[in-house]
Amino acid sequence: MHYLVKLVVLVMVLGNISYAKMSPTQLQSQSKSEVAKVVKEAYVKYKNLKEGKNADYIKALAEVDPKLFGIVVVDKYGNVFEAGDVKKEVSIQSISKVFTLALVMRERGDAFVKEKIGVNATGLPFNSIMAIELHDGSASNPFVNAGAIETTSWVKARNSQERWKKIASNMSSFAGRKLRVNQEVYKSELSDNKRNQAIAKLLEAYGRMGSDPLKATTVYTKQCSMSVSAHDLAVMSATIANHGINPVTKTQVIPAKYTPKIMAVMSTAGLYDNAGGWLYDTGLPAKSGVGGGIIAIVPGEYGIAVVSPPLDAYGNSVRAQKAIAYIVEKLGLNPYAK
Ligand code: GLU
Repeated sequence: MHYLVKLVVLVMVLGNISYAKMSPTQLQSQSKSEVAKVVKEAYVKYKNLKEGKNADYIKALAEVDPKLFGIVVVDKYGNVFEAGDVKKEVSIQSISKVFTLALVMRERGDAFVKEKIGVNATGLPFNSIMAIELHDGSASNPFVNAGAIETTSWVKARNSQERWKKIASNMSSFAGRKLRVNQEVYKSELSDNKRNQAIAKLLEAYGRMGSDPLKATTVYTKQCSMSVSAHDLAVMSATIANHGINPVTKTQVIPAKYTPKIMAVMSTAGLYDNAGGWLYDTGLPAKSGVGGGIIAIVPGEYGIAVVSPPLDAYGNSVRAQKAIAYIVEKLGLNPYAK
């Protein structure tokens, strides 16, 4: 054999041996320090960025500290990497839509969601009434307000109280701890939700609602007021990444067959009117909320969550988008690039 070929073979063999000798924990700990480093870098890089503005159409949201900034990554083993205000809580808002969708999918199956609610983008704002009219009375997907209120109305229950209990306990299972409602946000939002009530009544007229529209809107409003930290959101998204098993509590919260469906809807409609732009930049299914949180999922690997209240013109947290995009870029997490 030529000397160079021999050398290449030797290097390959030695490489394989040393790789094979490494225990899974050693392999994991290498990437663990890398993840921890990149999370810290993202925090430092965007800590002082002041772009964007808190949502103010729900009064209580305008009063949240705009300086709040927390980044958390949870991997499929339950390892946590974090920086900043990771335990400070905000209202979950639209991110709750992901978990109530999961609940209805578990109860009624994914075909029901596709046929009854829809899984396509509307191309219109998240609280659009026109979108319903333009699509023959369909909400189009579970992440615009119409589709989310409809989804909530289909949770199997004898009454609103029971429906709420199921929704709250489902979100808590995803988070691995008992979540509570932020009463101030709930009250503020209840007094500001006439438009959502109108949407629910319109859907009722089209025969789309599973239960009383106004009561479903109240339950939906409460689900949006659930209080979560960046840490909670990262565990919740890691549960979807980890085929429905909460990586911290090890509980199977949703059957694995549904997580690809949930991620598909997140890819199509997760970041309001900028869902396409986001997917183009990161390749990750994600969901944002007007409370300032964003979750993103690296399928089979990580849940990522960032909380930072100031939003851009689309209603997505400015720093959360930048921090997640930075982590994705530095760790090579875009699934389309694999
Ligand atoms: N509760 C909010 C609403 O219904 C949620 C909006 C959001 O986060 O997109 O308007």
